[in-house]
Amino acid sequence: MKYISTRSSAKEFNFSEVFIKGLSDDGGLYVPKSLKKYSTEELLELKNLNYNELSTEIINLFSADFISRKELSSLIKKSYSTFREKDVVKISNLGELKLLELFHGPTLAFKDIAMQFIGNLYEYYLSKNDRKINIIVATSGDTGAAAIDAIKGKSNLNIFVLHPNNKISSVQRKIMTTVEEKNVFNIAIDGNFDDCQNIVKQMFSDLEFSKSINMSGVNSINWARIIAQAVYYFYSYFKLDKETISFSVPTGNFGDVFAGYLAKKMGLPIDKLIVATNENDILHRAISKGDYVSKEVRETISPSMDIQLASNFERLIYYINNSDSEITADIMKKIKQNSYQIEKNNLEMIQKDFLSESCNEKETLDIIKKNYEENNMILDPHTAVGVGAANKLSFNDCVVLSTAHPCKFPDATNNAINTHEKLPEELQHVLYKEENFKVLKNNTEEVKNFVKSKV
Ligand SMILES: *Cc1c(COP(=O)(O)O)cnc(C)c1O
Repeated sequence: MKYISTRSSAKEFNFSEVFIKGLSDDGGLYVPKSLKKYSTEELLELKNLNYNELSTEIINLFSADFISRKELSSLIKKSYSTFREKDVVKISNLGELKLLELFHGPTLAFKDIAMQFIGNLYEYYLSKNDRKINIIVATSGDTGAAAIDAIKGKSNLNIFVLHPNNKISSVQRKIMTTVEEKNVFNIAIDGNFDDCQNIVKQMFSDLEFSKSINMSGVNSINWARIIAQAVYYFYSYFKLDKETISFSVPTGNFGDVFAGYLAKKMGLPIDKLIVATNENDILHRAISKGDYVSKEVRETISPSMDIQLASNFERLIYYINNSDSEITADIMKKIKQNSYQIEKNNLEMIQKDFLSESCNEKETLDIIKKNYEENNMILDPHTAVGVGAANKLSFNDCVVLSTAHPCKFPDATNNAINTHEKLPEELQHVLYKEENFKVLKNNTEEVKNFVKSKV
């Protein structure tokens, strides 16, 4: 499979470049040149596969020129052997809704599903290429932990994680900062997540710097993450055995819900994808009214969604504009100037596949309370936003992606219901261990210097 950038179709890339670089040199995101579309009969053949087999089937469509099917299959098996659920994910009932529990990996959020896979993909790449790679990643709380767990202790790899200082939950932070392996570096930036993401983008676009350290990115724009996430949309469709299916997806960077859109483009009969946001509702305003204008980031109890500039939205812009990279590049310029209103015909295209809703803080707490009382289930605040959005849209028959384990957000659940879930036994130690992170100013040069001093 060949890939191009959303901002220029002139140059083609193969999977290993797409995976190692994450972001194209022209600032665009990688997309495949063409997509497989499954027929109904072909889908039927996938129906009885277990999670690992299904992952192999789908990911292999995108990565065959890089890794053989057989090696991919054993890589996937190894990646998901770290999960507490035999089938990786689990579907449970929440009243009439279904919850797709994606948080049974080592760091208790859905990010593990793609990241465990990616960690082993790096190892595979390095077994064939004599290099040393430095991964730099910005996190709104969960990506960092998942990436660290996937990379820690692996040879010829360092990982630097930028998180917004004091703006993630303490459990989120501790899972990252109590890791002892020498190839892990935590940096707390005095700023918000968008600032962290900006610094990483600037480091990437300084080609001299990024090439000199073999910089690599695992942010949610990384195509390898998207394809690993597309798998669970297929999996739930087969498990629930329905004609069509809809999903409500707690959304920040638009990565997870984009994976659902990809599954739909590949022929999965998805009716609607609900983009569920917290008070940082740019995507809700965009999808409901075409108003794609960012505001100040607000801190909420669902910090992993405290994002105003959803990087993966560029891929949707590309697809709804008939895969036209010139138009996409133009629109991205407008977005950079914060002056983008989605045109009517584009908006209608988006609304064929997407609905959106936003939940404020009080609504989110109320959802946690209501579901604890009625269903005896503690929801993490991100999942609660997904449930709230489905409720507001009266979508009773839909699958809500449950993106984090509630024990990661004890303050939020204490606030809602005066109780919280305990960390699983194997993670209890993070509560008592010494933390290790460096606080730096919101300044790209300072971060570059820190990285240079460590590599
Ligand atoms: C990252 C994250 C999200 C948002 O996912 P995106 O792919 O950024 O849209 C939602 N919930 C949790 C718990 C997360 O960690």
